[in-house]
Amino acid sequence: MTETTELINQLDELERSLYVFHHLSSQVELDAMTAAPIDSAAGRSVVTEYLSKERYAAFASEKTGKLLSDLVERKAELPEKTARQAEVLKRDYDRMKAVPQEEYVQYDILVSEAQNVWLKAKLNNDYASFSPYLKKIVESQLRFIEYWDPDHKQKPYDVLLNEYEYGLTADMLDKFFDEVKQTVVPLVHAITEKGWQPDTEFLNKYAPLEKQRELSDYLMDVLTLDRAHCSIAETEHPFTLEFNKDDVRISTHYHTDSVMSSFYSVMHEGGHALYELHTGDELRFTSLASGASSGIHESISRFFENIIGRSKGFCDFILPKMNELFPGQFESVTEKAFYQAVNTARPSLIRTEADELTYCLHIMLRYEMEKALINREISVDDLPRIWNEKMKEYLGVDVPNDTKGVLQDMHWGGGMFGYFPTYALGNAYGAQMCERMKRDVDVERCCAEGDLKPVVSWLTDHVFRYGCLLDPIPLFNQYCGAEFTAKPYCRYLKEKYSEIYGL
Ligand SMILES: [Zn+2]
Repeated sequence: MTETTELINQLDELERSLYVFHHLSSQVELDAMTAAPIDSAAGRSVVTEYLSKERYAAFASEKTGKLLSDLVERKAELPEKTARQAEVLKRDYDRMKAVPQEEYVQYDILVSEAQNVWLKAKLNNDYASFSPYLKKIVESQLRFIEYWDPDHKQKPYDVLLNEYEYGLTADMLDKFFDEVKQTVVPLVHAITEKGWQPDTEFLNKYAPLEKQRELSDYLMDVLTLDRAHCSIAETEHPFTLEFNKDDVRISTHYHTDSVMSSFYSVMHEGGHALYELHTGDELRFTSLASGASSGIHESISRFFENIIGRSKGFCDFILPKMNELFPGQFESVTEKAFYQAVNTARPSLIRTEADELTYCLHIMLRYEMEKALINREISVDDLPRIWNEKMKEYLGVDVPNDTKGVLQDMHWGGGMFGYFPTYALGNAYGAQMCERMKRDVDVERCCAEGDLKPVVSWLTDHVFRYGCLLDPIPLFNQYCGAEFTAKPYCRYLKEKYSEIYGL
């Protein structure tokens, strides 16, 4: 056996063990979110801590470091896939190795405690009890930035962005959000001034659970999700969890007084699931076998949820099915009224309930705040005040309390600084991708006929099958044939909402 072959064998072995850790921790997470009784966290956290330590020991070892360096050195001799595996793993290795093990474990414990404190603080509108934890998390993040970029080659916040969207910078985001702000803020204000809103009352009539479950099954079929490889559960918060490309789990939450809530959750999580189910076969059980980045992933889920699921064609297509499943509820509703109702844009307090138009403003505010926090321009104690000011400025709404304001999301308490922007980027990536897709696929016909096969097949060829073979920005440039700009997204929102609201 040549030395290179031997190294490749060792790499396969490493990938296997990483897959096992991924599978086991996903299993624990899935159980926590689905079947486990409410007060059962203590036992699971013992397992999580053990797995976290063992994974660290296996991955951040001298042996792994040497293996990855040797492979990266021989990059030219390696098959393309292997070279990329080594590159991606080396990047993770360097990041993980840079943080001393004891600090890594302590941070895990801090974050898991902070999650519990955050949840109680949110329930009791008690920001003061959460802020000491948030301060410690921010301090940890600032230390991590030093570890990860000791020579200060990047701006501090960019170092965090790179964890979720490799290659993304605050400069790119500033430009993006500037353009979004200029388009969306006036649109939102114009809608508010106009004072007219579509009738949405019929959407909140009683919709029986068993019929909503039937609707989910139907939507999963329309999305072409293979049920032999993708199951659906019911949880408090909808999610997608992938074990591997043959085993993807999604979940939804049913509200009997809001049938479209689960409808769009299934479309959204279904989009995430399609991506995972269609990564290249040859990538199976490797670190390349998943979506390219948070932003690209979100672009796919938002594409199915909004660009497809809220399009005129798809609304017309789905209305007869809604009539069939929920007799009486949609009987006197016209196609136009249904389309307008599911596309209502109304400034609101809660990000996860925000509509397609105002959603990005919720993200913009979080982006501006977390960037300022990491740049030490503001402090944790300033967050509630700044939050409320920005909500007023961008969305025109008054925040009544921190529960409905700064405490609403779990991300910061989970140490996920740099993650929020990927949500907004996802929306914008999707709009530009759709413009490109329309050159090859009659997307409007697909929506109107509920035939999404050509769409999924385009996405498989251009996006899904690559997994992590390319970094998000080069991948995006490749399938769009152009660099990312906010323009298609702004154009899409402006055209759609001007038409709906007669602006
Ligand atoms: Zn998502």
